[in-house]
Amino acid sequence: MVTADAWSFRCSACGRCCNSSPQLSVPELFRHQHIFVGSLAIRRVRRLQPGERHFGITADAGDCAASSELAERLLHRTEESTRGGYDFLLTMQGFDSPSSTRCPALGEARGCTIHRDRKPATCSAVPLEALAPDRLQRLVLAGRRSSGDLPGSECIVSGERRGFSVVTRGAAVTDAAMREALARRRADLTAEKRWWGDAVFGILRKELFDDAAAAGRIPFDGFLALAAAPVLMVLAEVSESCRGRCLEYLDAQAGLIEARIAGAELRSGHAGPEIRQLHAFLRTGDALRRALRASPARRGTAHAAGIEAWLGLDLTGNPQPPSPRREENGEEPTYGLQ
Ligand code: SF4
Ligand code: SF4
Repeated sequence: MVTADAWSFRCSACGRCCNSSPQLSVPELFRHQHIFVGSLAIRRVRRLQPGERHFGITADAGDCAASSELAERLLHRTEESTRGGYDFLLTMQGFDSPSSTRCPALGEARGCTIHRDRKPATCSAVPLEALAPDRLQRLVLAGRRSSGDLPGSECIVSGERRGFSVVTRGAAVTDAAMREALARRRADLTAEKRWWGDAVFGILRKELFDDAAAAGRIPFDGFLALAAAPVLMVLAEVSESCRGRCLEYLDAQAGLIEARIAGAELRSGHAGPEIRQLHAFLRTGDALRRALRASPARRGTAHAAGIEAWLGLDLTGNPQPPSPRREENGEEPTYGLQ
């Protein structure tokens, strides 16, 4: 397929691409603590190599430099991963069972119930990909068009078409809202890397990232899903307010996970891998809650004020109210990934 000069997009609000939980930042996850079971999701991301060909475009030195600059900012790397030509993405994500076919925030009428209440930045950036530089977004669109990644009919078309927004023209992202959405997701990933990603990468490095066999099991497509505990451990160390907010989140998650386990048991009648993983999340969360409650008061690190503001804690240290429980959350009349 030859990449077109322009690519256009229209979302007809069919909700069909809302078929799994999205990636979220920690503040987004805290906001929606009654909707998404949070997990630490890890994936390997291939580095673009000069001369690689995708959809009729041959990657040049400028493409590779732009990809590398973005990876440096958003991803994690080791000497071994550099030799292997990949980096690691650490992000938070809602945990889904393999059998799940819908995002838990998708309403019965296929509308996004959190569309106007801090919808995750990853959803706002669809159909673009924050990990690819702007100059390569046309390849992202060509790839999604060819793979049927967005199952709605004709969401992405090459060239211009009536009723569609031109998203990219040549190597530029021309749609202002899309540019803003990409910038928001990249800013989120930068903050995540700074406030907990580097520390969690260090905690898991010996066991996971420096061990060739363990690192080799981290998928390129899909994610290795782990309990959110290492992330919360790092954030809870920051200050008393952060510890309190992490405990509140863990309490909310315990109730949500118990409800998910009950629902999964009702559906399948036996303890499959989904139920076992949810039980593991529950046990890890319980152990962390006990440890956090028993540990001495935090004095507050040098970055405490910045991290508290990022988490949405107000100046008195009180958390901002999270979104209501899923069943109390009215469905918005707008849809999926608009
Ligand atoms: S747009 Fe809403 S319903 Fe769709 S994946 Fe994102 S959060 Fe879920
Ligand atoms: S972007 Fe998603 S919700 Fe919109 S038309 Fe395509 S598949 Fe449907």
